Amino acid sequence: MSSPQTFHLTRYFSILSFLLIVIAGSAVGLAVQHQTSRQVTDMAHRHNEAMSQVFVNELWPHFSAFVAGSSGRSATELRAAAKTLGLQAKTSALMMNSDIIKVKVYNRDGLTVFSTDASQIGENKRDNPGFIGALAAHATSALTHRNQFDSFEGARADVDVLASYVPIRDGGQIPGVVELYQDVTPFIQNLHQVLLKVMLVGAVVMFLLYLMQLMVVRYAQNILRRQEAALLESNRELDARVEDRTYELAAINSQLEDEVLERRGAEARLVHLAHHDTLTGLPNRLQFTEQLQRSVSKAERNRHQLAVLFIDLDRFKDINDTLGHAVGDELLIEVARRLTGQLRNGDLLARLGGDEFVCILENIQSPQDASRVADKLTARIAEPLSIRDHDLGISASIGISLYPADGVDAGNLVRAADTAMYQAKKHGRNAYHFYTPEMTQYAQERAQLERLLRHAIENNELDVHYQIKMAVTDSTSPSGVEALARWNSPELGSVSPVLFIPVAEETGFIIALGEWVLRTACRQMAAWRASGVDVPCISVNLSVRQLEHADIVEVVRSALDESGLPPDALELEITESVIMNVGDAIGALKRLRELGVRLAVDDFGTGYSSLAYLTLLPIKTLKIDRSFVTGIGDNRGDESIIQAVIGMARSLGLSTVAEGVETEQQLAFLRHAGCDEIQGYFFGKPQPPDEFLDSWCEAESADKHLRQLRQGSHLRLAPVQ
Ligand code: C2E
Ligand code: MG
Ligand code: MG
Repeated sequence: MSSPQTFHLTRYFSILSFLLIVIAGSAVGLAVQHQTSRQVTDMAHRHNEAMSQVFVNELWPHFSAFVAGSSGRSATELRAAAKTLGLQAKTSALMMNSDIIKVKVYNRDGLTVFSTDASQIGENKRDNPGFIGALAAHATSALTHRNQFDSFEGARADVDVLASYVPIRDGGQIPGVVELYQDVTPFIQNLHQVLLKVMLVGAVVMFLLYLMQLMVVRYAQNILRRQEAALLESNRELDARVEDRTYELAAINSQLEDEVLERRGAEARLVHLAHHDTLTGLPNRLQFTEQLQRSVSKAERNRHQLAVLFIDLDRFKDINDTLGHAVGDELLIEVARRLTGQLRNGDLLARLGGDEFVCILENIQSPQDASRVADKLTARIAEPLSIRDHDLGISASIGISLYPADGVDAGNLVRAADTAMYQAKKHGRNAYHFYTPEMTQYAQERAQLERLLRHAIENNELDVHYQIKMAVTDSTSPSGVEALARWNSPELGSVSPVLFIPVAEETGFIIALGEWVLRTACRQMAAWRASGVDVPCISVNLSVRQLEHADIVEVVRSALDESGLPPDALELEITESVIMNVGDAIGALKRLRELGVRLAVDDFGTGYSSLAYLTLLPIKTLKIDRSFVTGIGDNRGDESIIQAVIGMARSLGLSTVAEGVETEQQLAFLRHAGCDEIQGYFFGKPQPPDEFLDSWCEAESADKHLRQLRQGSHLRLAPVQ
């Protein structure tokens, strides 16, 4: 900051006021001098006019004729005439003791006809302005200083003289002009003295005034200086404070900027979080929905096709439940990585939640483009994978919907892809499926099934039917029974378990349904036994969901306790593919086995179980799947499998049951192959309890008859309530 320019107030004031005082003093002095000298002159002028009147009054009679006759006369003549007339003496006498020191008289021609200084007689003043004025009746005076002056009383030095031309008035005429010289030296000297005093006093007063003003000014300047210093000091302080404050503000500002940056970062993170899945880092449902809407609009504008792929991992839940969430999470991350690696830049992959992924393929030329991508994705996912020392074989089912064929908005496209995905799962998993409109109908029917099934137990719509099993040796004898659930829906009629069991499994309803079947079957068995009908063993189907459920052992135990059925009279059938997919199947089965119940592998041959694995299971029976039995007589391959299975079971100490036996030929083949038990329509369809009992007794008595051990009457028992 530049220092302010110093203003020398005292200096400028002293110079200026000195000059002003000098100028004002001089002006006042001059004015006073002018005024007083005018007053003196006026006074002397009036005095001269009075004296001229005295002169006229006293001496004009002596002069009038002389003046009147003066024209044309010479100076000498005039001097002589004056002398003769004694004008000099008379004039001197009259003026003696007055201030008049010289008198001159002019005739109208301007000729000096008389002068107390005789040497001046004869001079002409015709052109003198004073004379001319007097002749025109105006008396005029002029003040002059003379170093040397000849008065009628003798020569004088340094005199101030007021010479007045005064008209001589004689009866209205001006016959001549008198010029009176008055010695005003005393007045002038006096005047000068007075002036000097006045000037002195004025100068002293002015000086004092100047001094006082100077003091006031210096005092004021000191105050101003102090104030200026204080102002400068406060300015400095202010500057320092402003600087400090500026620093503070700069610091606050940078802090604020940091905070703003941090907040922006946090907002960006929030936006990212809102749009991304935290586990895999992929876009989430929200971003997927927004993107799909944009993609659909773009495809609509550009008249392109696009595909939505709905990807669902097969049996992910089993892995998650058996190996733990940490493994499940790592698996999902790996799947996300694998899927991302197979996609183009423009494709969007998102995770909807759980093991569901979706993918948008923009601008595809034909459905084949989508199927090529689906092929790549399923192949890549199915590659071997090891997480935390667990070798996992995973696969995915993919549903594909196409814009515009399967839907023209995001919601319909996703629903269609989802439906198609279910279809892919239904058709054996590890596959993809394109959406077809029929799927919607299927999905709708399935949804209806799901809705109605939920209340089937409480509405007493469920039944258990029983199908007889026969032991085959040389003869055939009834050996057991399988309990099979039946649903008679008031809306749908009789619904096959093939339809409703998968739905019950997906919805979790199977837990309640399975338990109900188990308890009903156990009670029924106990009732038959109590009535004296010896059904050795009842088989009940167990779903994977039941097996996974922690309290399955307790449920089975309580069903046995409640019915009083001995554990070895109960066999639990577990589908082979289910056993293969339950992580801790061995543990669960072992606990069940410890209860004393028997365990059978249902639908054997469909699940590709390894022999080594089978030896680990605490099972007693293998149930050869109906699909192989159907092939007997037609398919050598099926027959070979049946023979191999029976041979293998024998070597492992397991019994075998063939299901779905409908013909004599099948029975003969199986008997010959060494199958232990037969189940199928050939011996009886699944029946309600009372009908079943008839069949059972019939079979038993036929057997007895054959063995010639016929015993009395048929027993007929009431069905269990
Ligand atoms: P599954 O356990 O293998 O039962 C045998 C199925 O084959 C039964 O079908 C039975 O009626 C049928 N069947 C038996 N003999 C023949 C034959 O000679 N020819 C033909 N064509 N079929 C025969 P169903 O009752 O429709 O049951 C189908 C499947 O539903 C069962 O297969 C079982 O997996 C499941 N299921 C039935 N009831 C239950 C249940 O209470 N709990 C569970 N978890 N699953 C059940
Ligand atoms: Mg079964
Ligand atoms: Mg079966």
